[in-house]
Amino acid sequence: MLEQDSLTVLQHALQQLDAGFTTLPAVSTDNTATAQQMQPILAAVAGRMQDNCPYFHPLYAGQMLKPPHPVARAAYALATWINPNNHALDGGRASSRMEMEAVQALAAMFGWKQHLGHLTSGGTFANLEALWIAGQLTGKKKIIASDQAHYTHSRISAVLGLPFASVTSDAQGRMDPNALETLLQAGDIGTVVVTLGATATGAVDPLPRILELQQQYGFRIHVDAAYGGYFVLAGNLAPHTRAAFDAIHRADSIVVDPHKHGLQPYGCGCILFRDPTVGRFYKHDSPYTYFSSEELHLGEISLECSRAGASAVALWATQQLLPYSRDGQFAQGLQQGRAAALELHRRLQQESRFLTAFAPELDIVLWAMRGSSVAESSQRAQAVFQQAAAQDLHLALAQLPVRYFPAGTWPQASAAGHVTCLRSVLMKPEHLQWIDAIWQRLQKAALAVT
Ligand SMILES: *Cc1c(COP(=O)(O)O)cnc(C)c1O
Repeated sequence: MLEQDSLTVLQHALQQLDAGFTTLPAVSTDNTATAQQMQPILAAVAGRMQDNCPYFHPLYAGQMLKPPHPVARAAYALATWINPNNHALDGGRASSRMEMEAVQALAAMFGWKQHLGHLTSGGTFANLEALWIAGQLTGKKKIIASDQAHYTHSRISAVLGLPFASVTSDAQGRMDPNALETLLQAGDIGTVVVTLGATATGAVDPLPRILELQQQYGFRIHVDAAYGGYFVLAGNLAPHTRAAFDAIHRADSIVVDPHKHGLQPYGCGCILFRDPTVGRFYKHDSPYTYFSSEELHLGEISLECSRAGASAVALWATQQLLPYSRDGQFAQGLQQGRAAALELHRRLQQESRFLTAFAPELDIVLWAMRGSSVAESSQRAQAVFQQAAAQDLHLALAQLPVRYFPAGTWPQASAAGHVTCLRSVLMKPEHLQWIDAIWQRLQKAALAVT
């Protein structure tokens, strides 16, 4: 089940890397003793790691977990023999340059010829840098995000000491531009966080309309595309979604997570700024590190100090194999996930025991179980979740506003209430081929509880 061919490739590359250091005097180590000691420990690790869901398998269709590409895994491992630190060129010359190239490829994917940006440990830290810069430029004005935006934005705003308010989402789970305009009329909004691909639903906020409001009211736009960013390459988006991604280059800053849809191991987010001069806010001196070169050290434009050079190496290697082009294999993989989501949604719509809200905008599908009350529907979703897992089909659960479903779905329900729904993130290209297998297991699970 688990891919192992890349181990041979890794061993060859490791020998090649080693050949670059042959002029150094040999260092003697007793490797056999360590190998013997390591073996039972790694066996214990393997045993412990079996207590995980099989995230790599297409029947894992729950949370946002996409297996790293074998080339990313091999390149990451290869880099750890050197273990570069991309804080400064003193700690990782080659991997810092690979980071700049990899980040440039991400910026180019969004249509930017120039930018300032770098990799981060993930989307949380990338968003923190975006809102920190926003705060530097807009003073103590408010940060606004939709009620479906990632919860990280309100927490980050609190960390930064910036006021935060949320805007309601519309019946499609997107930021409601009318509600946004009402808030803008108060004149105290500095930054609007626009989510392209909400974490729970995959909903895409109406960026073109928000850009129109920007003309009138003046505010910064930060696009949180941690999850959805790569869909800019997908050729099978609905017109509303396409229009939002086509406008992404007009944002002031963008966050995208290569460790979500970019086939990377965890520890790889990215922050991009359209205006390279925001680098001035990062300016600092280091008494320890920036000596080896007058060239830019990435630590001079990043809040995190030590950062894994291996992450940059892995991302760079993956981009060589799967470039970010709209007609390439990488884009095709995203399209397959979306096609799988549309197909699952279509099947759900045809069965009366399932209740669908809106059609998937990306590759995330949501549905409720029919019931006479919200409580009964929520209970059934829980039960289906467990029954499906018993058949190796791993789904996820999400609390969604009752108002996303047609009025009268639950006659007694309060419009402000929430219902527990089933959620499936179909982010592996193989999911399309596995739809029948997923559907069969879901049907069986639903039959067992209703
Ligand atoms: C995942 C996600 C985040 C948080 O990113 P991490 O990489 O988990 O730190 C922020 N925003 C959105 C939209 C996300 O999907």
